[in-house]
Amino acid sequence: MVRSSVLGYPRIGADREWKKALEAFWAGKLEESEFELQLQEIRLNHLRKQKEKGIDLIPVNDFSYYDHILDTAAMFGIIPERFAFEGGAVPLSVYYGVARGTKDATASEMTKWFNTNYHYIVPELNGASPVITENKPLTAYREAKEKLGIEGKPVIVGPLTFLKLSKGYSQSETDAWLSRLIPLYVQILQELAAEGVQWVQIDEPILVTKLSDADVERLKNIYETFAAAVPNLNILLQTYFESVDRYADIISLPVKGFGLDFVHGLNGNLQSIKTFGFPADKVLGAGVIDGRGIWKASIREKLELVEELTKHVATENLVIQSSSSLLHVPVTTERETKLSSELKNALAYAEEKLDEVVLITKAIASGKAGVLEEIEQSDRAIQALQQSDERNRSDIQQSVAALSVQQPERSRPFAERHVAQQAKWQLPIFPTTTIGSFPQSAEVRKARQLWRKGEWNNEQYAAFIRQQIDIWIKLQEEIELDVLVHGEFERTDMVEFFGEKLAGFAFTQNGWVQSYGSRCVKPPVIFGDVAFTGEMTVEETKYAQSRTSRPVKGMLTGPITIMNWSFVRDDIPREHIAYQLAYALRQEVEALESAGIGMIQVDEPAVREGLPLKEEEQAGYLAWAVKAFRIATCTVQDTTQIHTHMCYCEFHDMIDSIEAMDADVISIETSRSHGELIHSFELNTYKLGIGLGVYDIHSPRVPSVEEMTAMIERALRVLDPKLFWINPDCGLKTRGLEETVASLRNMVDATKIARDKH
Ligand code: GLN
Ligand code: ZN
Repeated sequence: MVRSSVLGYPRIGADREWKKALEAFWAGKLEESEFELQLQEIRLNHLRKQKEKGIDLIPVNDFSYYDHILDTAAMFGIIPERFAFEGGAVPLSVYYGVARGTKDATASEMTKWFNTNYHYIVPELNGASPVITENKPLTAYREAKEKLGIEGKPVIVGPLTFLKLSKGYSQSETDAWLSRLIPLYVQILQELAAEGVQWVQIDEPILVTKLSDADVERLKNIYETFAAAVPNLNILLQTYFESVDRYADIISLPVKGFGLDFVHGLNGNLQSIKTFGFPADKVLGAGVIDGRGIWKASIREKLELVEELTKHVATENLVIQSSSSLLHVPVTTERETKLSSELKNALAYAEEKLDEVVLITKAIASGKAGVLEEIEQSDRAIQALQQSDERNRSDIQQSVAALSVQQPERSRPFAERHVAQQAKWQLPIFPTTTIGSFPQSAEVRKARQLWRKGEWNNEQYAAFIRQQIDIWIKLQEEIELDVLVHGEFERTDMVEFFGEKLAGFAFTQNGWVQSYGSRCVKPPVIFGDVAFTGEMTVEETKYAQSRTSRPVKGMLTGPITIMNWSFVRDDIPREHIAYQLAYALRQEVEALESAGIGMIQVDEPAVREGLPLKEEEQAGYLAWAVKAFRIATCTVQDTTQIHTHMCYCEFHDMIDSIEAMDADVISIETSRSHGELIHSFELNTYKLGIGLGVYDIHSPRVPSVEEMTAMIERALRVLDPKLFWINPDCGLKTRGLEETVASLRNMVDATKIARDKH
């Protein structure tokens, strides 16, 4: 019988109650026992919901107290030495220490989960001796069964993926590490089998990336070992985010089923099935409902797709499922009361996707006739949005089409601009600056709320923002920073703020998704053609500049970041959306310049997030991403200094593209990569202005002058001192005032030492 399944559910809850519980616990406002109870309630609610909707294979152990990769590391007792973990169960203090840092130890690195905007904690294997601290999947399975009578499907990150996402070991140690991990996995699986678990979902998303022959051998070794150890446990080897590499090898692995993504890996996976077939005795987890997008599925198209699949797989071997975990989509559209009906009707969040999965399952089981009404409904909803005015702005479509055939270029090359800019700005060697935002205190958030609720009028709110700008301009002068910023107090978020002022965007009330830890983001929805409708940042920036004689840097979010951090329409190519955004931002860049702002930063932290997982598609993406940045920034004068900023590490393989953006200065997050990024600059000759972040802003810890001096010296071994800037890793929005001022003072002291020395 065809079954329905989900790969994972959002953790945060419809009200973000998960986030609130975590933060209350960290702040010491919630006892550990009460915290555990609250989290359990949230977890059980999600299971209940899936049961109620009729999902057959409900995931357990997909829930987390922070991040599922950290959970996996903690389950194996892989805790970096600096946290003085002594074995046994991992206490919450250690668990959160690894994630967030402690007074004495820096946090583990955090990095992007494949090509999503979710970030996981990178396990550090060096020196660890893995053991099982707790069979978490078993605990989760028992809980679902005992509390709700649910026969859960434990989800576990597979060994190859876990290992490949970890650091602190060399290539040559891969097999040694696998042989340490495999027995632990075996024990976990054996305990699950003994408990009577029927299906286990082992996530191996690494299988959609390039695999070597050695990797394929490793997979055989892993899954043959599992098959021998737990012959009666049904393992579903799950992949997502792209089509699998080495399909023919993978489907010969001795597991009971394979989960494939037929949304983001549609073409590749479908082609593979057609070419190589699908083993008759295996189950296919057909990921047909998008686990990452917010759009309603066309039930008609999905049924056609599944019918296509049934030519290769018997219906009783089919599992209809989401293409990935639903972690990447918001919880429910039910509370969206402010969207136009055209838009709202075209949306499906996690809960609505449960309905879609069940609906398709039902149609496959008992025929289309029972769901004709639903098919028509989804067609109507999708068509109504397609025909809306917002999706049919010919003025924008024409301007952007004209732009996209040109090569956007500054009027002179960097070397010449650099001379002109030095003459104009007269900055000292190693200019200091920050990335844009300053602490958003409770007071700032309160003010925004008052204004949003209408209790404050625009003028009251603007006066408050001006007052914050005053405070921080003064502080920055006192700290003796060279290039100042206005502080971004008027912005909740670097994308939402712009989206609210551009045409083509919509804002949800509850479209929150987890970004990292307790941090959630509410991505705007780009549902129509994007257009500039008026100045967005000029007022605050101009005001800040009027309060100081030092240069104030304008602050914009770049086209690719806006796009990658939004939920975007899927009826036109992403490339076109990027150019529409770039064209709109160009108009803002020009407005700032006309208002006398001579340094403008266009942040592009999220370029990497859009990087296709398939190597053969990466160059094409980077080329249009660079082009979009240049469209936005190329029309300014030579003396106008264009800055950009990138964070979330792992830029080492994109340095050529970063250079091609042709920004006069880039600031880039460095400290969490523990020197690896600096090393990659060693291998390149980056010829534009650059500031490698000298301190980690993700933790409240105040870095010492000595630490920052060491970072600076390390960078200067590789980079040209004349082009070197000194700045923190990223914006300081989430930090407190005191630690921020103390850290920046230390940063300026470290700069002075460097100036004396060089
Ligand atoms: N200008 C932004 C800030 O300082 C940049 C944030 C980011 O890169 N994530 O907040
Ligand atoms: Zn940043």
